[in-house]
Order: sequence, then C-alpha cells, then structure tokens
Amino acid sequence: MLKGIAASEGIGIGKVMIIAEQKLDYTPKEVTDVDAELQRYKDAVKAFCDETVEQADAIRKSTGDKEAEILMGHIAIISDPFMNGEIENLIKAEQCAEKSVEQVCQMFIDMFSATGDELTMQRATDVKDIRDGLISILLGVHSVKISDAPANTVIVVKELTPSMTAGIKKENIVGIITETGSQTSHSAILARALEIPAVLSVENATSQLSSGEQVIVDGSEGNVLTAPGQDEIDAFTAKRDAFLREKRELENYRGKKTLSASGEEYELFCNIGTPKDATKAINADGEGVGLFRTEFLFMDRNALPTEDEQFEAYKQASLIMKGAPIIIRTLDIGGDKEIPYLGLAKEENPFMGFRAIRYCLKNRDMFKSQIKAILRASAFGDIRIMFPLITAVEELRAGKELVEEAKSDLRASGIDFDENIKVGVMTETAASGVIAHLLAKEADFFSIGTNDLTGYTMAADRGNGDVAYLYSPFQPSVLMMIQRIIKCGREAGIPVGMCGEAAANPMMTPLLISFGLTEFSVSAPSVLKLRKNIAKWTKEEADAVAEKVMAMATEAEVTAYLKTVL
Ligand code: PEP
Ligand code: MG
Repeated sequence: MLKGIAASEGIGIGKVMIIAEQKLDYTPKEVTDVDAELQRYKDAVKAFCDETVEQADAIRKSTGDKEAEILMGHIAIISDPFMNGEIENLIKAEQCAEKSVEQVCQMFIDMFSATGDELTMQRATDVKDIRDGLISILLGVHSVKISDAPANTVIVVKELTPSMTAGIKKENIVGIITETGSQTSHSAILARALEIPAVLSVENATSQLSSGEQVIVDGSEGNVLTAPGQDEIDAFTAKRDAFLREKRELENYRGKKTLSASGEEYELFCNIGTPKDATKAINADGEGVGLFRTEFLFMDRNALPTEDEQFEAYKQASLIMKGAPIIIRTLDIGGDKEIPYLGLAKEENPFMGFRAIRYCLKNRDMFKSQIKAILRASAFGDIRIMFPLITAVEELRAGKELVEEAKSDLRASGIDFDENIKVGVMTETAASGVIAHLLAKEADFFSIGTNDLTGYTMAADRGNGDVAYLYSPFQPSVLMMIQRIIKCGREAGIPVGMCGEAAANPMMTPLLISFGLTEFSVSAPSVLKLRKNIAKWTKEEADAVAEKVMAMATEAEVTAYLKTVL
C-alpha cells in the first residue's frame, strides 16, 4: 500500500495511466531576425491564451466558474507587463523565444518556490504550466491527452496542473494520484470540484506504479492499494457504493430547512477560522457562522493585526455569507493556543491561567481594537459578538462595557455599526454552567463550547491521553451542564447554540432536540449529515431518549444505550 495525502474523498478502482512529463527538448537557435522572433513569441502567447480560454470554458461547463478562474489566472500571469517585458528583452538581445520563456519563467518559479508560503508556491505550479504550454506551442509539440483516457482510468502524474485537469472527463477518470500537492493545492481543489477521489504527495508514484496495473485509490484515507486481491476489490466496491449512496442521499438535504421529524426548526451554522472558510460554509449549505475563531487572524505572523485588517476580514466573511448571521468570538488565546509575539509568560497551569477573556480584559487597547473592528463590520451584515471562557458575571459586564466604549468612539468618528449588536457568552466552563441563570439575564445568547466544557467539568485535559477515558461529553456531569445551560437560556428567553464538536455527534442529536437547543454549529462537512440526523427525530422520541439517558449513572451506560437507539 502507498500512503499519501487524502485530498478528495471517495473510492476509485481502476487501471493506472501514467502521464509522463512532456519532452520539451530543444536546441537554442540563433536569432537573426529579431522582429520575426518577437512575432513568433507573440503568436505563441496568443495561441496559449486562446487555448486557455477554451479549456476554461470546458472546465466552467463541467465543474464551475470558480475552477475556471484558476485557469483564467494563467492568462493574467502571462499578460503581466513585467514578465512579458523580460521575455521580450531577452528576445531583443537575440535569444530564441523558447530559451527566453524558459529563463524568465524559471526566475519566477524559483522566486515563488522559495517563499515557503503555500499559496505563493502554488503560483510556481501555475508558471510551470504556462512555461510548458508556451514552449510546446513554440515547438509545435502536442500536449498530453488526458481527454483520451478510457473508462475506469486512474491518472498518475508527478504534478497535476490546472490545464491537465481541463482535459479530464469525469465519467472516465475514477482516481487521481500525484507525487506533489497538499490539501489546499489547486490539484486538490480541482479534484474535489470534479468529485474524483485523489491521493496526493505519494512518493515516487510515477515510478512505483506502471500503466495498466490495477489500483484502488482511497481518497478518504489517503491510501493507494496496489495489486488488490478479489476480496479487497469486493470490500472497496461496497465501500465506494455506500459512499456514493450516502452522498446522493445527503444532497437531498441541500437547500432545505433544518427540521426535526415533528417540524421544529433549527439553525444549522458552521464553525470557521478565516474569511476563506466562509466559502466552505456557504458551499456546505451552512445557514450562518456559529463560531468564527478569530485567533487564526492573530497566528502565523509577527505582530498584532490592525483594526483595519481585522475589519476587512470580518466584513469579507459577512459578504461571503451574504449577510447570514456570523458569531465572532473575541480572541481566545492561551491554553493550547499560543501566539509567540504576545510574549505570554510560561504558566504552571495554562488551561487555568491567564487566557481568553481574562487576557483581553487586561489588554484593553488590543481588545477594544478587535471589538471596534467587529462593530464596523456589523454595518455590513448580521454580526454578533461572543466572549470566550466566561466564568463570572463581572467578566461579561466588563466586556459589554468595552463594547459600549467602542460604540461611542465610533459614533464620535461618524462610523456606522449595528447599534443593537448582540453580545453573547460562550458557555464552556463549569462555572458558566453553574451560574447560567445569572449570565442568561445579561447575555443576548449562549453558545455551548463542549470541547472546553467537557474538560473543565471533568477536570480532564482534552490533549492528555491518560485521562482521555474521562474526557467525554456523554459523562452524566457534562450532560447535566448542557441541559442546565439550555434550560437557563430558554427560561431567560435567549437562544442557545452549541459550537463544540459534540454538536455534530449523531448520538447527541436527540438529547439536544429534547433539551431545546436552537442552533447547531459544526464543521462544513458535517452540515448535511446533521440536517439528515435532525430530520430523523420527533420531539417526542427525543424526549423519551433524553429521559432515559438523564437517569443513567455512567458514561458507559449512556453511550451503549445511545448506540442502540441510533
Ligand atoms: C469549545 O471549547 O467547545 C470550542 C468550540 O472552542 P475551541 O475548540 O476553539 O476552544
Ligand atoms: Mg473553547
């Protein structure tokens, strides 16, 4: 078995077709007529652009606009006056077009590759694609014809370029294996858009595999099975069929409301970490964002993001979500979330220490600049503020005071914001569960963070394997906390959501329906699955399950029972 990165889920069973790299050998020619050589180069660029537009049209029809844009980006790169100017200058200095294209492209490839930044490195692949395209046009060599691949083909290639993808006929290609690429590379994006199972970064795939041999591509696990036996083929065929069946079934839930079998309606939101994730949320049919983890905007950099930078990020997310609700959680650092430039002191017990709202309330300038950025973005959509790790009413009050201060600053500067912005509490500590009735009087909403609530209720670190047996949201103590938080919220007339991982767990669904949760916030791939799960339960059935569960004394009993009712 060969291991790689699971980049596009599903199972493909088929015969390998190795796409060899094109031979683009040439002997540099002497240029005697510079004008003619320049014209030959310009003709090649024009032919390249025409071909690219054609390929983009094909992708647009088979896959979608977004994917076509990746190819159209090639035209933007080759139309860049600097790049073009450099190539033309070399030709004017009597170097042939092939060599000039190669030399300038190589300069860009080296520059992009050296950045270490994944997105920029991706542009190196784009430039390679452009270089090979232009040189093959100049040489009159025909490009590889993936479009001729017969049914049940697994493409094996060093690097899948966007232009190659244009030739893929979805009905014939059952799998993709490459030697390079990651979850976020263009090849992964395109494979997912085409819904073809893909395993990327399989070492030496093109030399380890040979054309014609049978393989199984497991794009969900990132495995390639070579020389599979009949029983493996049977097992994976069954797995593939089940995957496709489930996928078709889930599609029936797209664009629908989230309803229980007895007609109660729920909000089904997504958790995101960056504005770009909002696109995933929308594509997954999320009805809003229940948790925007803003710490990602503060990570992987050397200094705090400015108020403007944050404003742009929050506004962008809101525009992508087309005005649907977005709950922005203020900075939740400390514990396992480190931001080196903040220079937080090492603590004996970071999870119990100076983190999240505690840190923010002591660093008021930084906190206020985040709140102002959120407020400014609230002029562009339905944005709400949520404070993490609340353990006492004073913290909520202090946070709300700062929101009022930020509002008056903005008013004084004549900047628009939502005067009635909702301010909620992330209930994720044992303390907040116990005083939920007090917090509910002063918060506009609750969102239960079961990841931390489980840890703080059980006094069990979520990252510590030795106490993992205690770390379960199905512990009676944690379930009682969840039930209590929802009850207190309901009694105070405020909505209660859940944004911890447990929200997506099908065993939790009947309990949350029974307790009266109003909003679920989950990762994008869980949206349709959860909508389907919610639709299975009537309120009455869910109540019966919850009644039994809440009378149980141990986690083992609870989970064993819930498995039987699923
Ligand atoms: C939680 O604690 O449940 C939660 C959603 O927040 P995080 O995982 O970011 O701590
Ligand atoms: Mg948390």
